[in-house]
Amino acid sequence: MNTNGAPRDAFERERLDNVRPPHWRNPQPARRYGLVIIGSGTAGQVAAYEAAALGARVALIEHGLFGGNCLNVGCVPSKSIIRTSRLYAEMRNAKQYGVQVPRDIRVDFAAVMRRMRGIRARISRDESVRRLVAANVDVFFGDARFSGTDTVTVDGTELRFRRALIATGARPDTPSIPGLAEAGYLTNETVFDLTEAPRRLLVIGGGPLGCEMAQAFCRLGVATIIAQERPLFLPREERDAAQILAESFARDGMEVRLNARAVGVRVEHEQKLVDLVTDGDTSTVAVDAILTGTGRVPNVDELNLEAAGVSYDNTIGVHVDDFLQTGNRRIYAAGDACLADKFNHTADASARVAVGNALLSGRQRVSALVIPWCTYTDPEIAHVGLYVRQALERRIPVKTFTIPMHDVDRAITDDDEMGFVKIHVRERTDRILGATIVARHAGEMINEITLAMVSGIGLETIARTMHSYGTPRPRGSNSQLTPSAARV
Ligand SMILES: Cc1cc2nc3c(=O)[nH]c(=O)nc-3n(C[C@H](O)[C@H](O)[C@H](O)COP(=O)(O)OP(=O)(O)OC[C@H]3O[C@@H](n4cnc5c(N)ncnc54)[C@H](O)[C@@H]3O)c2cc1C
Repeated sequence: MNTNGAPRDAFERERLDNVRPPHWRNPQPARRYGLVIIGSGTAGQVAAYEAAALGARVALIEHGLFGGNCLNVGCVPSKSIIRTSRLYAEMRNAKQYGVQVPRDIRVDFAAVMRRMRGIRARISRDESVRRLVAANVDVFFGDARFSGTDTVTVDGTELRFRRALIATGARPDTPSIPGLAEAGYLTNETVFDLTEAPRRLLVIGGGPLGCEMAQAFCRLGVATIIAQERPLFLPREERDAAQILAESFARDGMEVRLNARAVGVRVEHEQKLVDLVTDGDTSTVAVDAILTGTGRVPNVDELNLEAAGVSYDNTIGVHVDDFLQTGNRRIYAAGDACLADKFNHTADASARVAVGNALLSGRQRVSALVIPWCTYTDPEIAHVGLYVRQALERRIPVKTFTIPMHDVDRAITDDDEMGFVKIHVRERTDRILGATIVARHAGEMINEITLAMVSGIGLETIARTMHSYGTPRPRGSNSQLTPSAARV
């Protein structure tokens, strides 16, 4: 992980002081630890606090920056610049809301990134090394490698454990495009170090990361092209959700290239020329920077897992059972290092499951978690539970209720009419199987559905519950949201 690229301003000094204190000296190890954790991202830190609170002797090993992906190069910096980019988009649309603004709105990119660094520094206080040490956790900096079935070494020092947790996260996948490495490219590990915006940017990859970043940069005034190999963005999501996103990108003025595969990069006259193949036709785009967002690879290959008797592969990561236990009964895994759902909240929840199972002989199943997620584009795209195709694969009969956002008063008053709320229930019941929400605040709205699913609350109860005026509800009677009067 990049530790040096961003300007060393007061914010960066504060962050680094919190997440990688200078002159750090590793402690003298205990004779044996109740839990040794590898990785200090969300999963590692949550596990450390939980285990220490249970009275276990805990060691945590980190080879980069405390806080891992989310704090340093993921959720926190990306959501910070997305917020500013949305403001710029609104300013450009101000006339639509009856507000006069100067025609030429100048983007102060350096200030946008400075604000992001300030937010990151502030949040780093909550994820600091000192806080964890104060919680009675022994913190070691260095590369962790298993040296046996109950030992890990960190920079030559051996730590013996009763239980261990692998929480080493994931890193950006590097697409093998001829010429890309030589031309140079950005990933999420380097893009937040920028202080000057590229004039023209190509984003390769139309998953959550690529979509969020492409829209943000486009709205920050960068001439942005997004190339996605598949016919739609966010391949996991429902087609109409992905379709709305493509329309939204086009409205922002982004150049959208679907079914487009980058096959070669070369540098000419200080610009990067990228060949894109679409339906057999090759075209070339000229840009100043390339950002890749083509997936994430679990950090497992440098852990010497063979010595610990833990099986893994480079796609899924550490192999775990439903209790997050590996083939070595002493060793567990959590977060991006082993889960297909690579989110901050799943790292958190899975760490709690793993610690409970490892230290309290619990039998919590990771498959029992109800996991919502959201892609923070505009509109946001959030989902929880089953998609229709998954329900049908499992032979569960489904009925779908849809409310388009253009039927929602609040969306109309806010000029946010792109999107919908779709809730899937088991046919002839009101049991919620899943939901997709495409709306400006979908990330918040999905949580009501998640709560209902976790608590066994049916759609009829949601429909009967009084909601403050303006939330998605068809105009007219409340009963319109009950299955008997469903709009499918
Ligand atoms: C740009 C971007 C935006 C994102 N936005 C969101 C979002 O909005 N919402 C959301 O839910 N998720 C988001 N995510 C995903 C989220 O950041 C991850 O799912 C989450 O951080 C995973 O946490 P983790 O603890 O499993 O791993 P990580 O945070 O990756 O932590 C793993 C740690 O282990 C350390 N490590 C690795 N190998 C070793 C070793 N051998 N020895 C010692 N230490 C080691 C690493 O240095 C790292 O600090 C985003 C990700 C990216 C890249």
